Amino acid sequence: EAPPVVSSGNKKDLRSPICCILGHVDTGKTKLLDKIRQTNVQGGEAGGITQQIGATYFPIEAIKQKTKVMAQYEKQTFDVPGLLVIDTPGHESFTNLRSRGSSLCNIAILVIDIMHGLEQQTIESIRLLRDRKAPFIVALNKIDRLYDWKEIPNNSFRDSFEKQSRAVKEEFQTRLTNIQIALAEQGLNSELYFQNKNMAKYVSIVPTSAVTGEGVPDLLWLLLELTQKRMSKQLMYLSHVEATILEVKVIEGFGTTIDVILSNGYLREGDRIVLCGMNGPIVTNIRALLTPQPLRELRLKSEYVHHKEVKAALGVKIAANDLEKAVSGSRLLVVGPDDDEEEMMDDVMDDLTGLLDSVDTS
Ligand code: GDP
Repeated sequence: EAPPVVSSGNKKDLRSPICCILGHVDTGKTKLLDKIRQTNVQGGEAGGITQQIGATYFPIEAIKQKTKVMAQYEKQTFDVPGLLVIDTPGHESFTNLRSRGSSLCNIAILVIDIMHGLEQQTIESIRLLRDRKAPFIVALNKIDRLYDWKEIPNNSFRDSFEKQSRAVKEEFQTRLTNIQIALAEQGLNSELYFQNKNMAKYVSIVPTSAVTGEGVPDLLWLLLELTQKRMSKQLMYLSHVEATILEVKVIEGFGTTIDVILSNGYLREGDRIVLCGMNGPIVTNIRALLTPQPLRELRLKSEYVHHKEVKAALGVKIAANDLEKAVSGSRLLVVGPDDDEEEMMDDVMDDLTGLLDSVDTS
């Protein structure tokens, strides 16, 4: 069984939306990602979740499983092939990228700790998202810490909440209201997602617990809802390539490689690529396209699977010559038969101006 890299077969031929998680430290970004990733949903095997380069891929079947408990409240169609979640919460490539139509992330999850409310990096994240006009939802995490919360693991928030005592409901409402006021002070109107009648104007809040898994079905449901209903144009396969460099790494046997999120189009072995380098543009050819070996096959000789061609959206490692000075956070372009290579070299170097401001010492 091949990893779902060259997937689709979808009538609408939408690609997988890409999602990033950000927020203040300790709000539960990592734990939430782990919880979403857990494959075993109460006996039902939600298989096929695969670790990619810098990202986790959730095939639509896994999302169907995990959102089953939502059926009593909401309908859902499953038009996208899956969901790609960037693994590093608040990854600097996302933070670094200047607006210029950056397409690394279609939707972001801003995690807020319900016990702490807005914190410094929450406010920075809000600014970033607004500057970029990036759509996002708020995960109001750690609801299990409300005094006397009765947990029902992996349940929808809506059902779990209905079953809480009056005191729990009141504490929740007080904390929610305070956080909504704090968000309004940042210029954001917000509403609990199932009471939100105007998704374009109001940010949706999904209460979650990364410990009990409550609210995770609601979160996945809403991600699908927003991306499928409101962004399907963005998710149509385009002929042109959109790709962002996440990391530059030396790998034994491959030399310097780049980890790339391919947001749109295809990459093929041998493609001529143009990217931004510290000392000027880099033009090279893709020598190898690599994804991690599926876990159960780790005893095989290589850690990586080679591909002739990969299709968005996915995380992929590229081996090629001259990648040593590649700049993470910048775009990667593919030279087509009618493209002007010189012009593309200028284009990618434009990214550097924005990126250098925020490059750290590492
Ligand atoms: P990050 O810095 O945002 O990635 O936060 P982590 O995922 O590392 O979580 C920070 C701490 O909060 C850890 O001790 C987690 O176990 C805890 N934590 C995260 N989510 C929850 C939650 O939903 N409920 C509770 N009670 N603890 C949580």
